[in-house]
Parts: sequence; structure tokens; C-alpha cells
Amino acid sequence: MTVAGGDVLAPGPVLSKVQVNSDDPHLIEALELDCIEARSGTNPALARRGFGTRHPPIGGVFAVQSGSIGDGDMAMTANFQVLRSAVITASDATKWKKALLEWDVTSVEEHPTSDGECVCGQTGLLWMYTITNEVNGAELFPIGSSCVNHFGRTELNRRVDVFRKLVLVRDTVNDGNTVEMTTEFFSRAVLEFLYEEGVFTPDAFNHGDGWDDCEFLLKMFGKRDKSTINSKQRYKMRMLLESKVIPFVLADKRLG
Ligand SMILES: [Zn+2]
Repeated sequence: MTVAGGDVLAPGPVLSKVQVNSDDPHLIEALELDCIEARSGTNPALARRGFGTRHPPIGGVFAVQSGSIGDGDMAMTANFQVLRSAVITASDATKWKKALLEWDVTSVEEHPTSDGECVCGQTGLLWMYTITNEVNGAELFPIGSSCVNHFGRTELNRRVDVFRKLVLVRDTVNDGNTVEMTTEFFSRAVLEFLYEEGVFTPDAFNHGDGWDDCEFLLKMFGKRDKSTINSKQRYKMRMLLESKVIPFVLADKRLG
């Protein structure tokens, strides 16, 4: 790891950029967590830059507060402190950085009047998530998406987006409207999630391999110019949506 420091993203504390050349996921994760703690602090420049919402792939440049690695307490908001102690209390691990690894986002509910209150005390939630401790089975509800973001784990933020899109798929179908293979309803993460959930069952059309279906939909989804999708592909896409994706989404209890 090489540190080239001194860049000031003022106003706020002095920041340095840390170039990480490593394929050690634990190191990367630890650095990401420190980025999140920096983000939860007082520097609006960091928040605007979206640290904590999009992570670079393994290796990359992270902005951290000088001297803050392992000690983000000064920069912590009151809401985050409440969340942190609720999470630690319900975890097997006793330290935040270990405890946060025990949790997963497991369901979402839409508040009918956008008036949900997060475990941390934040009010006005429309989307209320349940997080579940994979080690001891404990659940925390309701959790807002900004608190999920405090975990600093890409896969949790991704799951939040996946659930939101699938709720939209379900509501659109229930309203009698058509779901298209667009970014409004889908993402690569959504399609991969559906695959992992076993939505693409093996059949004669995919030669007994559900990944075939998923790969096809990823390809159609990735086409910028949807007019290049031919009628045969359109038919196959419609069939997969109607026979596999939509029935799964309508039956999925995790979507509230
Ligand atoms: Zn919260």
C-alpha cells in the first residue's frame, strides 16, 4: 500500500488519498468501512462524492480522514450512534466492524404514508427494510436505506436496490401495466439475484441450464438500442418475464 497524501477536500478535516494495490478483500473491506465512517461525518464534500454508495473494484483510490482509520467516533452522527448500538446489541460480535458483517438485508415494506421511523430515530421513511443477523437470527426493523448504507457493504446496498426494483415490477404488474427490460425495472444485480434465487428453472429451452436464460436477459438488458432486439428475442424475453420472473416476484413475501 502506498500513501500519497495531502489533498485537501476542504471545508472539513484534512483528507488524504490512499492508493491501494491489493487483492486482499479484508483489507479492501476495512478501508471501505473507514470511508463510510468518514462519510457519516461532517464533510459534505465526501457525501456529495458518493463515498459509501459506490465502491471501486478491488484496489483503487479511497479518501479517508487523516488519522481516522479505526477511530471514526468524532465524526459520527447521533443517528448512526443509535443504529450502531442497536446492531451491536443484537449481534454476536461486540465491535461494530465485526458486528456489521453478520447482517443481511432480508425484506422491504413500503410505508403507506411515508411515515416510517428507522431504528436510529430517522423519520419519514417510505421504504422500511428488515435486516437479519445471519449468525443468531436476530432481526431489526424498520431500517432506512441510509442506515443500510452506514454498514458500508456493497452487497447490502445492492440488495436494497434489487428489492426496490422488484417492488416496482410487482406494483406495475398489479396495476395491469407492462414491465420492460429497462433500467426502470431491472439491473444486472436484479437479474443475477433472480438467477441465484432459482427463478430460471432448467427446461428444454435453456438446455437444462438456467444460467442460459439469465445470460440472455443480461444481454438484452445491456443493449443500449433496444430497437436492435429482433422479434424472436422479444418473444423469448416476454416468455421469460411472464413464465418465470413475474410469478416469482408476485409470490415473494420479502417484498412486503
Ligand atoms: Zn436509520
